[in-house]
Amino acid sequence: MNIVDIKQNNRKKIYFYIRENNFATKQDIAYDLQLSLPTVTQNLEYLCKAKLIGSNQKLSTKSGGRNPIAYSYIADAKVAIGLDITKHSINGVVMDLMGNVINRIFLKRDFRNNGEYFILLGNLVENMIDNIHLDRQKLLGIGIAMPGLINEEQGLVVDGRVISNTGISNKDFVKYIPYPTKLVHDSNASGFSEIWMSPEIHNAFYISLCNSIGGSVLVNDKVYMGDGLYSGEVGHMNLVPNGKPCYCGQRGCFDAYCNAERLANYSNDDLGLFFLRLKQGDELLQKVWNEYLDYLAIAVHDIRMLFGCKIILGGYVGAYMKDYMDLLCERVNAKNPFGENAHEFLLPCKNKVESVATGASLYFIDEFFKNFGKNPMED
Ligand SMILES: [Zn+2]
Repeated sequence: MNIVDIKQNNRKKIYFYIRENNFATKQDIAYDLQLSLPTVTQNLEYLCKAKLIGSNQKLSTKSGGRNPIAYSYIADAKVAIGLDITKHSINGVVMDLMGNVINRIFLKRDFRNNGEYFILLGNLVENMIDNIHLDRQKLLGIGIAMPGLINEEQGLVVDGRVISNTGISNKDFVKYIPYPTKLVHDSNASGFSEIWMSPEIHNAFYISLCNSIGGSVLVNDKVYMGDGLYSGEVGHMNLVPNGKPCYCGQRGCFDAYCNAERLANYSNDDLGLFFLRLKQGDELLQKVWNEYLDYLAIAVHDIRMLFGCKIILGGYVGAYMKDYMDLLCERVNAKNPFGENAHEFLLPCKNKVESVATGASLYFIDEFFKNFGKNPMED
């Protein structure tokens, strides 16, 4: 490490120490991080000036001497916005550096690939900022999550058959959203949000059981993108040779058996109602649900054999899975050749409502932490 690296590293360490502890005195920091008081002082001044931490919070001491200054973490020193764009709705969140959602919107609006729709998105973003009187300097960027095969590096939807968004790119948004934007795949956003919320999990496979099925491979706390765009696309794993037709043109895909719409179709397109009637003992729905679990168990088993990591059940159906884990695990266990207990690796998602939107915003938050100290904080 050269002298610049050491300086950056010290600043980062101090900043993260305060983040973890919420507030700390100069003496705490110097002692716990084994840094000299002048080094700590210099960095604290810098971080205060950059408005990333606050000072002046007096701690009461029993000694009667001068109270030491406590430095506190400012969670909303920077924020990011995440948008979840689906076929029929838009969900948006503003998230701070601690992962708190500080504003949210939800709008029922059919997706349209036209200027009017992008103007609407631009207005929504401005409203979310204005509603909480947010200083625009604090905004790191806007993650925009959608279904479809997305080349995230190029910011381009390569195959958008689910909501007819093929060809949409970052350029379509920047005209109306004057902030840094990043186009992300919805399942990757969800998976990333789950792993961010679970510090104990570093590797996992996230299955998104929404109106189409997606997945995300999470390795070492990051989304594994593979060489192409298809990493994690478990929706099109073949479960049944020559089975039900899938929207992709093939037959027998996992998606054709386990997408959320298949269940909702039995209850006026209302998935909540499906699970309510299921609980009430509706015989037809119980049959449908048992069949659903049979197919889901095949996919879960195959993924477990492939990756040997934790598997998180997310998406619309994942949000209801908590009460049915025994039924599913039983089926998965019956297939396991190594006597594993699925209860130990199969988990229902934690983030039940806004995982896509929060995950999309977290890309910018994560980036901010990763690059911390590399750029002048006044930026
Ligand atoms: Zn398919």
